[in-house]
Amino acid sequence: MTSQTTESVVRDGVHYHQYDVVIVGAGGAGMRAAIEAGPGARTAVITKLYPTRSHTGAAQGGMAAALANVEEDSWEWHTFDTVKGGDYLVDQDAAEILAKEAIEAVIDLENMGLPFNRTPDGKIDQRRFGGHTAEHGKAPVRRACYAADRTGHMILQTLYQNCVKLGINFFNEFYALDLITVKDAAGKTQVAGVVAYELATGDLHVFHSKAVVFATGGFGKIFKTTSNAHTLTGDGVGIVWRKGLPLEDVEFFQFHPTGLAGLGILLTEGARGEGAILRNASGERFMERYAPTIKDLAPRDIVARCMVQEVREGRGAGPNKDYVLLDCTHLGAEVLETKLPDITEFARTYLGVDPVVEPVPVMPTAHYAMGGIPTNNDAEVLADNETVVPGLYAAGECACVSVHGANRLGTNSLLDINVFGKRAGRNAVEYAKSADFVPLPEDPAAGVREMIEGIRNARGTERIADIRKKLQDEMDANAQVFRTEETLTDVLGTIAELRERFKNIYVDDKGKRYNTDLLEAVELGFLLDIAEIVAYAARNRRESRGGHMREDYLERDDEKYMKHTMAYLTGDPHSSNPEDHIKLDWKPVVFTKDDKGELKYPPLERKY
Ligand SMILES: Cc1cc2nc3c(=O)[nH]c(=O)nc-3n(C[C@H](O)[C@H](O)[C@H](O)COP(=O)(O)OP(=O)(O)OC[C@H]3O[C@@H](n4cnc5c(N)ncnc54)[C@H](O)[C@@H]3O)c2cc1C
Repeated sequence: MTSQTTESVVRDGVHYHQYDVVIVGAGGAGMRAAIEAGPGARTAVITKLYPTRSHTGAAQGGMAAALANVEEDSWEWHTFDTVKGGDYLVDQDAAEILAKEAIEAVIDLENMGLPFNRTPDGKIDQRRFGGHTAEHGKAPVRRACYAADRTGHMILQTLYQNCVKLGINFFNEFYALDLITVKDAAGKTQVAGVVAYELATGDLHVFHSKAVVFATGGFGKIFKTTSNAHTLTGDGVGIVWRKGLPLEDVEFFQFHPTGLAGLGILLTEGARGEGAILRNASGERFMERYAPTIKDLAPRDIVARCMVQEVREGRGAGPNKDYVLLDCTHLGAEVLETKLPDITEFARTYLGVDPVVEPVPVMPTAHYAMGGIPTNNDAEVLADNETVVPGLYAAGECACVSVHGANRLGTNSLLDINVFGKRAGRNAVEYAKSADFVPLPEDPAAGVREMIEGIRNARGTERIADIRKKLQDEMDANAQVFRTEETLTDVLGTIAELRERFKNIYVDDKGKRYNTDLLEAVELGFLLDIAEIVAYAARNRRESRGGHMREDYLERDDEKYMKHTMAYLTGDPHSSNPEDHIKLDWKPVVFTKDDKGELKYPPLERKY
């Protein structure tokens, strides 16, 4: 069945549309949700980018699933690795779902036509990736399904083609800027739709809907050195936050070990999965010292820290001794050209280094947001530790289920977007079948109109790019791989100053058509909000766990901190002092038990 287009009407200059399900975001999570929702409900996808430009298309290395096509494997091992990789902050029931449904998720994609790499006997081939092991950590296992080093590209194209086949309605280059909510008689939040800004015309659109799915991706642009696309500014996370809904575990950000030095452009961990080795200035394979069993394939948080430590202790390579080297030379030209062609080209193009004959300078790059909009295992958004917001869903990098805990394993995100994107779409359509439309408030676009006009007519002196650069430099300097009370306090001080400067901005372009100047100002607003919560929650967590490393609290402290952070907005989100508008609370971690009532994955020391 083809999803129907609905008529829109224009009232007071605003376009009104009505759909059963509105999905915000056309990356892997959004389109996987649309494929579930489309056949059963009138479905619209709103996306600020053309769908095939979403960041999922940049994903390189692979998607995990214990298919056991090339080596013995099981979903229990996959769950164990995910929980341990996440430094035990993972909700274990969610990780079990992720690992179990991985197999079906890969087969779904295969049936949709995804051209995976194959073994000689025609099965989907699998490669090694960091932290994925056999028999609870004994040795690396081949679990990542891949299509050369363009796995995300293939996933995105495949999902898009299937959406086109189903006749899903896409609203491309529409920026969702507000979630329409109303309070019911009991004071509970109800969802009525989304307000979006159309880039081509500057018009506002109200999408009245029964269910809304957020699938807006990550927010790596709070940092300067990042693998993330320019567009990953955390809009969905920011919108939900400004509506007074909580955010979970945002202090946990992943720094991927192998960004091109000085640039942050990613070289997939699949390179190390194929056998590449990290070396310091003297050529030493230093990961042997830190993770004797799985060495270069330890989880990313560990490898990233070891790299920075090598550099800090004077063993860095290059004229300034400020990077380490990824050595692929022993893999041979054929492996590089066939299994890792894109990253081979990236090294040649951006650094002028040919990985076939010389090692590539690398350093950690901000890569992935473990935290985000809290959901339960059905992708339903939570208003606190338990209460579901009816009709509101989130999936993909913007969501926190939490399957990644304090550190995500490589290849578990392409998996996450497929498993929980599917769940979000399926549950949204089920909800829409029985729910009524919540009546729209009077002038639902008022808030967005005021924000947009405020920016367009601002007569200040500050440039958006200057404020953004200062924010990103500050985050790189003080909230990256290593953090302390002092550096995080420094970040918060800088953000307070930047908030003041943000009140005094101007944008050059006052027009309506394709006003990207104006939208960059809007995006900077989200970046400031999110960076502040990251730093505030990070300062409050006085322990080291996963991607959050506190030099002043080096140990993981399970007694005090084996719990998720929940951040709540309690005042004007734009006030300068975070104490005035952020309240931090906690949420228990879910542990699973076996038949005898014993913990299945007890928190152990994390050795590799
Ligand atoms: C370079 C790179 C390589 C990676 N490699 C791997 C890998 O090999 N394996 C793996 O598992 N993971 C990998 N990851 C991580 C993984 O790709 C992402 O976490 C995942 O693809 C995110 O998917 P998503 O659907 O949540 O978001 P995205 O694909 O980022 O899509 C976000 C969507 O939201 C839309 N959007 C955002 N804001 C708005 C708004 N205001 N209004 C309307 N629309 C909006 C955008 O238009 C876009 O369509 C990689 C990431 C990067 C950056």
